[in-house]
Amino acid sequence: MSWDERQRAMLAEMGYRLPAWPAAAPAVEVPDEPPPAAAAPVAMAAPAAAPAVRAAAPTTASIAAPAPAIAAAFAGLDWSTLREAVAACRSCGLCQQRRNAVFGNGAAMRAQWLVVTDPPDEADDAAGDAMSADAGRLLDRMLLAAGLTRTGDAPTAFVTPVVKCRPPRGRAPQPAELDACEAVLARQVELLQPRLVLALGVQAARRLTGLTEPLGRLRGRVHAWRGLPVVVSYPPAYLLRTPADKAGAWDDLRLALQAAKAPARGRST
Ligand code: SF4
Repeated sequence: MSWDERQRAMLAEMGYRLPAWPAAAPAVEVPDEPPPAAAAPVAMAAPAAAPAVRAAAPTTASIAAPAPAIAAAFAGLDWSTLREAVAACRSCGLCQQRRNAVFGNGAAMRAQWLVVTDPPDEADDAAGDAMSADAGRLLDRMLLAAGLTRTGDAPTAFVTPVVKCRPPRGRAPQPAELDACEAVLARQVELLQPRLVLALGVQAARRLTGLTEPLGRLRGRVHAWRGLPVVVSYPPAYLLRTPADKAGAWDDLRLALQAAKAPARGRST
């Protein structure tokens, strides 16, 4: 894949300096739960090598469906009514300590990409917005590099967390909480009809792939969820702390671009 001037500009904004693509290097393992840190964005040096994109046949997720009663509560809602229902949702215990449910930001109709992130952090919970701080600004630059945006007059991507309410003390969401909130995500998919799902972070990736492998092993291949191709990448907050992995993130975006163009074949939930 070649880069046009706009993509080069956005990659530079990401802090990623385009190399002449080198030969493949071993995939980098990412900790399942990167330690929290308040590091500021750091401009990165050019990576020594970037792993080659390994396109593979879609893998298929096996995930529990949301309880019928919860799914029924969201079924058939239009976009604005769904947003209101999520703000008032008490379908799982995560409602008890949230300040705001995080519905998501971006295209409200026909998004090309649905970006599913790990659960809201403290800033998201306070703002009620997905990826509202430095990590969100990096994500926006990544999307622009791929030719997409979640802002402006004609957004083409929608960004939403895998569960809409922040788990207490930043713990991982429990299976029952993930099951409950999948009813919201399922309705968002029905309304948005994206061509691709980008899962950013181990919790989003494991939920959508149905696999329990480390994040590094879920990258580099195309999974399937609800008939859609799913590509896994690093969470932007991790990239802020580990800028050397921005090269791998760009590889993931390139794979996502390829997967979004591919005709649907044999995808299933
Ligand atoms: S996490 Fe999802 S299912 Fe649980 S209360 Fe929040 S919006 Fe409802």
